[in-house]
Amino acid sequence: MAMLAQKCPRCRKGNMFAHGAFHPTKFGTPNTTCSHCGLYFEIEPSFFTGAMYISYAINVAIMVSLFIF
Ligand SMILES: [Zn+2]
Repeated sequence: MAMLAQKCPRCRKGNMFAHGAFHPTKFGTPNTTCSHCGLYFEIEPSFFTGAMYISYAINVAIMVSLFIF
């Protein structure tokens, strides 16, 4: 529920985003630290490597379906 409410993963009270993830113009602006417990928010070290594998699989699926079409 804390993930859906965009709360801190440690204390589940501080906000992860400065303006909320659903703000029309400032969405996705993360806070650098938790306002309640002070946890430093940072991306996992292998975040972009995992995203690369998922992006590759999606692109292969699109290209194969276009080739068959
Ligand atoms: Zn916190």
